[in-house]
Amino acid sequence: MHTFPRPRSERLHVERPEVQASCPECGSSDVRRYRVLSEGGWWTAVKCQDCLASLERTPAPPLGSFVPLGTTVPTGAPADGAAR
Ligand SMILES: [Zn+2]
Repeated sequence: MHTFPRPRSERLHVERPEVQASCPECGSSDVRRYRVLSEGGWWTAVKCQDCLASLERTPAPPLGSFVPLGTTVPTGAPADGAAR
């Protein structure tokens, strides 16, 4: 069973929601939050879009958005990855 359906759009992109902050390096207010794959695995990063300085980096789930079947325990509450 496939976890993800086949994409309907021709090109895929990551949503990069804006964050109300200003870059401490260049002063830009174009700051966005998104996942990045870097040394140490996936990170949820808040980065300046002008100079790419990282304002914040927190560890994301090790397999990114992919959650293998059978690896989570149902609790009745929304899973960690559902609250985005
Ligand atoms: Zn910047």
